[in-house]
Amino acid sequence: MADNEVSSQNSQKSSQFSQSDLPELLNQYYKRLFPYKYFVQWLSYGGVPKTYFVNREFSFTLKDDVYLRYQSFSDQQELEKEILKRNPYKIDIGAVFTHKASLSLYFIYPKDHKMIKPGAFQAEEKELVFDIDMTDYDEVRTCCKGADICKKCWLFMVVAMKIVDSTLERDFGFQHRLWVYSGRRGVHCWVCDEKARKLSQNARSAVAEYLSVIKGGENQIKKVNLRRPYHPYIRNSLRILREHFVDLVIDKQDVLSSKERWDGVLALVPDSVRNELNSSWSKTKRSSRNRWEELDDWLKGSQKTETKDEIMFQYCFPRLDVNVTKGLNHLLKSPFCVHPKTGRVCVPISMRDVDTFDPFTVPTISQLCDEIDEHEKNSSDMIEEEKKKMPAYMKTSLKKPIGIFVQFLKGLESENDNRRKSFRDAEGK
Ligand SMILES: [Zn+2]
Repeated sequence: MADNEVSSQNSQKSSQFSQSDLPELLNQYYKRLFPYKYFVQWLSYGGVPKTYFVNREFSFTLKDDVYLRYQSFSDQQELEKEILKRNPYKIDIGAVFTHKASLSLYFIYPKDHKMIKPGAFQAEEKELVFDIDMTDYDEVRTCCKGADICKKCWLFMVVAMKIVDSTLERDFGFQHRLWVYSGRRGVHCWVCDEKARKLSQNARSAVAEYLSVIKGGENQIKKVNLRRPYHPYIRNSLRILREHFVDLVIDKQDVLSSKERWDGVLALVPDSVRNELNSSWSKTKRSSRNRWEELDDWLKGSQKTETKDEIMFQYCFPRLDVNVTKGLNHLLKSPFCVHPKTGRVCVPISMRDVDTFDPFTVPTISQLCDEIDEHEKNSSDMIEEEKKKMPAYMKTSLKKPIGIFVQFLKGLESENDNRRKSFRDAEGK
C-alpha cells in the first residue's frame, strides 16, 4: 500500500516500483537484461572440470513462495529457457554436487532405474560465502530497526565490507572476492578462489569463527574481550574501526545523547568510571562527541586501555550470519536477482567505490525497464543493426554494475587458465 501511495504522489510515477507489477517486470528483466552470458561464465570457472556448471544446484522461489530446489542446467541456453519459463521471484545458488543436481529427484522418484546410491549424491564444492544483514545491528543502531535502513546505518555495512574484505585478502590470501548488495538491507560476499571453493565444512567453520570477534547472544552484555598483545587481525581491524567509529557511532548514531543510550556503552567500562560519568553526564547537556572524549580521558587514566577498543569492536565490528558461511550446502541469493520487496537489483559492489556506494540509488527493475524504453525512443536515428548489436543493459543503469562483474571475471581468468593448463598436462600423461 505504501508503495502505491508514494507512487501516486510522484511525478515520475512509472519509475516507482510496485509489487503488483513484479511478474511482468521480471519477465521483461529476464528477457532483456539478466546477464546470462557472464553469469554462466562465472559459474563455469573456465569449464574445468566440464561438469562444474552442470552439477551446480540452483533453487527458484516462484510467486506465492513456491520453492523449487535442486534445479540444474546443462548450459546457458537451458538456464535461460528455464528462467524465462518459471519467471522466478528469487534465484539462489547452492553447491556443486557429485552429480547433476536434478538427479537427486531420483531419490524422490525411486522407481527410476537410473537411481544413484543414497549417499553418493553429495555437495562437493562451493564458493566461501558471507552474509551480513543490518538486522543483526539492531542492538547498536539508533536510527532504524528491522528491515529498514538509511544512509546513516548503511555505514555499518561499509565498515563490515572493509574489514572482512581486507581480512580475506591479508590473512587468508583470497584474491577473488565478489561483493554484492542484497537488494534491501545487507551485503553478500562470494569468495571464488579455487582453494576457497574446495574448503571443507570444518575449514569454513574455522574461517567463520576466526572472523567472529563479537560473542554471545542478547543476554550477554560485554561481547568483546581483548587481550594484549593484539593479534594482527585485531590490529588491522582496529585501524579500520578507528577511521569510522567516531563519525558513525558517536556522531551519526549519537549513542551518548541520552541516559537510555549511554547506559549501553557505560555497561562495558569499569564500575568506577561508569559511576563518575553517569553522574557527570546526567547533570549537563553535552554532545555525544564531547562525552566520548571525556570517557576516553577516564579510560586512559584507569589501567584498562583495552576497554576503548572493546567498545569500538562491540559497536562497529562486522556481525556475520555465520551459519551461511559454515554450511557447504547453504543456499545464497544470486547476484543480479531482483529483491521482490524493493524491486532493486542485487548488484556487485566495487571495493574501490565502497565509500560512495549508495543502496538508495541502486536501480529498481521498473527504472531499468523505463530506461530501455526511453533509450529506444531517443535513438531512432541509430541504425537498426547498431541497435541490435548493443546489449540492452548498456542502455540502462545496469551498465556500471555489469562492468564491475566483468572486471571481476577478468581477474578469475588467469586462475581458470592455470587450471585448464594443469588439467591438459594431467590428461597428456
Ligand atoms: Zn538507519
